[in-house]
Parts: sequence; structure tokens; C-alpha cells
Amino acid sequence: MKKQTKICALCKRGLTIDNFYDAKRIYCVECERKTARNRMREYGRTIRGKASCALKHARQNIKKNGYDVKDDLTVDQLVDAFEFFDTCPYCDKPFESLADISIEHIVPLSKGGYNTISNICIVHKSCNSKKQDRDVAEVFGNEKAAEIKEYAEWKRGDEKHARELEKMVEKTIKRLEGLFADVFLYLQ
Ligand SMILES: [Zn+2]
Ligand SMILES: [Zn+2]
Repeated sequence: MKKQTKICALCKRGLTIDNFYDAKRIYCVECERKTARNRMREYGRTIRGKASCALKHARQNIKKNGYDVKDDLTVDQLVDAFEFFDTCPYCDKPFESLADISIEHIVPLSKGGYNTISNICIVHKSCNSKKQDRDVAEVFGNEKAAEIKEYAEWKRGDEKHARELEKMVEKTIKRLEGLFADVFLYLQ
């Protein structure tokens, strides 16, 4: 008996039905895998993908080194932080693209810093690797360390500060959206 064949809607090859996950699917297995990979790659270029990846790495780091630290950081909190801040608190320069951004534990995990949003700031990748596991004051000076401390305290729920900063949100999000569009254009 001749096996039933079907044309893949993407690669247009006529293939036997066992090349499809099931008879209802319009793409062949190979094309489905390819498109899934592309979706993952695109996801990694989104703010949420970036946040999810950063959180995964932090958790891996905690597990690998057996750090006994408080850990209740969420992807949503990181997305908010990525959307909110358009300049790096360490060098005060703006972020050029999503690829330029990393999460930073103000008190390093290796020194007992928590994996919680109050211990996180969004910084340049280059500033992050410059700081490594050292204290802020050691790398960026005492004044900067005091600023960062204030910044972290705001995230612990200082309402007045929160309202002031909220006013900036809309502007920042608009900027990031523009940036985003640029990144997509660049990658195409
Ligand atoms: Zn195909
Ligand atoms: Zn920086």
C-alpha cells in the first residue's frame, strides 16, 4: 500500500505523513523544528526573554556554588526593571541596545547578597564585568556606592520615591520601544 503524502506548507516538499507530527499539521517536522528554534532566538531578543535568561543564570550560579541566599526574584520584576531604567547607574551612560544590558547584584551573591529585586540593578555588560565580585565603593567610589544604596532602598518600597520615578516610566518605555524597533531592523 502506498503511503499517504502531504505537501509541507513551508518547504513545499511532498512528504510521507510520518514526516509530520500528525496529519493535521501543515509544516513538516523539520520545518516545525526550524521555526521553533527561530521563535526561541527571537524570544531571547525580547525584554522578557532576556529577563528570563538572566534569572536562569542567577539561579544556576546560586545552585552551582551552593549559596545560601534569599531568592524570590521573578521574571516580571526583571522585565519592569529593564523597562524602567534607561541609564546605567554605575557609569550614568544610556543603554545603546538590549544586548548592552545585564542584571547586576549590588551585593554580590558570593558575598551573601540576595537574589531579590532590591539587590538588583540594571547595568551595562561592560560595567558588570568591571565590577565582578567586588563592592560598588571599591570599583566606582564611595559617592557612587551611596547613590546605589539609595537606589536599592527605593526598590524596597519607598512610596514617595516610587511616585516620582513612575512619572519617568512612560518616557522610558517609549524610548525602549524605539530602541527595540531599531534592534529588530538591524537583525533582519
Ligand atoms: Zn517542510
Ligand atoms: Zn555602565
